[in-house]
Amino acid sequence: MRKIRGFLLDLDGVLYVGNQAVPGAVDALHDLRGQGCPLRFVSNSTRRSRSSVAGRLKAMGFPIDEHEILTPAVAAASMLARDEKTAFLVTTGDANRDFEDAGITITEDLPDVVVIGDAGDRFTYELLNLAMRMIISGAQLIALERDRTWMGADGLMLSAGPFVAALEYATGKEAVCVGKPSFGFFSTALVGLGIPASGVAMVGDDIETDIGGAQRCGMQGILVRTGKFREDLLASSGVIPDLVIDSVADLPLIL
Ligand SMILES: [Mg+2]
Repeated sequence: MRKIRGFLLDLDGVLYVGNQAVPGAVDALHDLRGQGCPLRFVSNSTRRSRSSVAGRLKAMGFPIDEHEILTPAVAAASMLARDEKTAFLVTTGDANRDFEDAGITITEDLPDVVVIGDAGDRFTYELLNLAMRMIISGAQLIALERDRTWMGADGLMLSAGPFVAALEYATGKEAVCVGKPSFGFFSTALVGLGIPASGVAMVGDDIETDIGGAQRCGMQGILVRTGKFREDLLASSGVIPDLVIDSVADLPLIL
């Protein structure tokens, strides 16, 4: 591997699974901080606002400030605010807060964009049908993420990707993805880190969005064997991680 000067870390499946911190993860972050290693956190989680994500991490004991976290909702909200777009949100939890804080007008009445994240139990035929009609009427489809799955407390869960694909199929329009693995998302995180891509490693449990995405941006990719990690996907995805480690607890050892 090339010399690593800083890390981008995924959250879900890397630092925690369900409501449990990955064993050794809190100590590993303290260790990396102690070594003066710059860190930023890039999550495709869309069920919570950034401040809720930060609060949850703090409760688990992680030394992470809210401003060090980049989520797709924050990235999408700043993009929509810049372009003064109105939006309809297909999301759940308090994900709407990131949009409201950015001053986005949220409406069901001919929105400029339909924003879709992992809406969990809010995904209903009715809601997807409403979104489909808005897109057919001219709204742009923005996917906060299009991951296939994520690892919940009791097993694999459908992520936003399958629902994004359904809306694309129904409307014949392609979604713009703002979360990982988009170039813009990783670029924003790298600016925050202050280190060029060649000196950065991305640590994640999704071989496609975390590892493949980071490598396409010029970073190295470190896959962890926690969260949604699957041996069969490692063999079949066509993506070759620069390194595979048992968990984030091993990260301080490779610096
Ligand atoms: Mg993950």
